[in-house]
Amino acid sequence: MRESCRICSNSTSKLFSKNGYNVVKCTKCDTIQVEHDKTLDDLIKEVYDTEEHLDLYLTPLSKWERRIWFRESATINFFKSNGGKILDIGCNTGKFLHILDGNWDKYGVEPNLQTAKLAKDRGIKVHVGEIFDAGYDSDFFDVVTLYEVINHLIDPIAVFKEINRILKSGGLLVVHSGNIEALIPKLLGPKWKEIMVPTHLFFFSHRTLNDLLNRTGFSVKKTIFKGGGHFGKYIGTLEYILSDYVKLFNRIPIEDIVVMYAIKEE
Ligand SMILES: [Zn+2]
Repeated sequence: MRESCRICSNSTSKLFSKNGYNVVKCTKCDTIQVEHDKTLDDLIKEVYDTEEHLDLYLTPLSKWERRIWFRESATINFFKSNGGKILDIGCNTGKFLHILDGNWDKYGVEPNLQTAKLAKDRGIKVHVGEIFDAGYDSDFFDVVTLYEVINHLIDPIAVFKEINRILKSGGLLVVHSGNIEALIPKLLGPKWKEIMVPTHLFFFSHRTLNDLLNRTGFSVKKTIFKGGGHFGKYIGTLEYILSDYVKLFNRIPIEDIVVMYAIKEE
């Protein structure tokens, strides 16, 4: 099976195999992706509804995780200080929206029934299923967020176009992803922790994610690199101090997570 790229329809070349799947790279847009023929129903049965996966999601937040979400909440309030309507796609148990303070009307989309129920109990308006069958009006939301979701998507272009439709003009889209062009994945290759196949179907970088956002009508206003726990924090500070002097850091981020804050173009 040799598929064309799911982002730009051009040809791909094989990088490596993992768990019986080929991981390929587009020869035109550089997006790294898994060759597969899964539907969302297949993935729910084989990956998301497994006990192992649910355990991971139902575990209460650690102090450290709560601190990360507080910081994220502050960044969103910095961009949109008046609040409004916010949608978290893949909202899980509502752990982020629950922490978000400010004047927000909170919505979520979540395919897993069990986690969606917990989010509903937290007062979030949850649609159980996919974004495409949620039936939101056009120009409805002020903010849409995707935390650790983009790598699971079967068709990111279709999802981002739908987000563009339901966001207001000038609305904010926040996307969080592993960064396959960071130093750690470059050193570890297929052993990098994000290469979970077929749980993850795409492996974006700060470059390919930026291109995907541009392709679907967004312009990136802010990019943050993070990851690696406490070690990553020290490296991040060092990177920041040295970035004016050591140009290498501008090309190869050390931390393996990227967060992009993008605005829907007028
Ligand atoms: Zn491509």
